[in-house]
Amino acid sequence: MGKGFPVVMARLMDEFCRMPGVGARSAERMVFHVLQSRPEDVASLARAIEDVKRNVRFCAECNNLSERELCGICSDDKRDRSIICVVEGPNGVMAMERMGFYNGLYHVLLGSLSPIDGIGPSDIKVDELVSRTSDPAVREVIIATDFTTEGETTALFVSGLMRKSGIKITRLARGVPEGACVEYADVGTLQRAYEDRRAV
Ligand SMILES: [Zn+2]
Repeated sequence: MGKGFPVVMARLMDEFCRMPGVGARSAERMVFHVLQSRPEDVASLARAIEDVKRNVRFCAECNNLSERELCGICSDDKRDRSIICVVEGPNGVMAMERMGFYNGLYHVLLGSLSPIDGIGPSDIKVDELVSRTSDPAVREVIIATDFTTEGETTALFVSGLMRKSGIKITRLARGVPEGACVEYADVGTLQRAYEDRRAV
């Protein structure tokens, strides 16, 4: 890629091209954008990229993305600590937060079970969920994993694990289409799926 361009430009094109959803044409336009930007803006972009990598980590409690030990949601004392919504990844948190009315906590599993790919319970943050739900303050666990084979397998496994705990366990209703990822559900659909959640 970037034939006929200076080597440094071709290199940046290659870097942009490795980003998801960026094709050769977009990468080329991005490099020209960098070239036409003011030096201070380019420095700011480079710093922003480095800062994300350096400063973002997983919340010690829920595994959501965070700049601190605890994420903004876990450290917000106005959140309802009696409900934990279980999602596969940080994108699931963002989707739920976009609805604007869920006020409980989250648990990010950082993956989903996929026996075919050799991904078992020890590869996702399921033990941490069990230990969080031993807190008597927790009254409901909402399983909001995706409606894919992996998401359903994970939902079944998690609900099986919790059954003995006596905590109310619910699963988002099937308003979210079969095979769909929670993160891509529109706000209205996700809201209905949340309101119609059922005990499992
Ligand atoms: Zn957190």
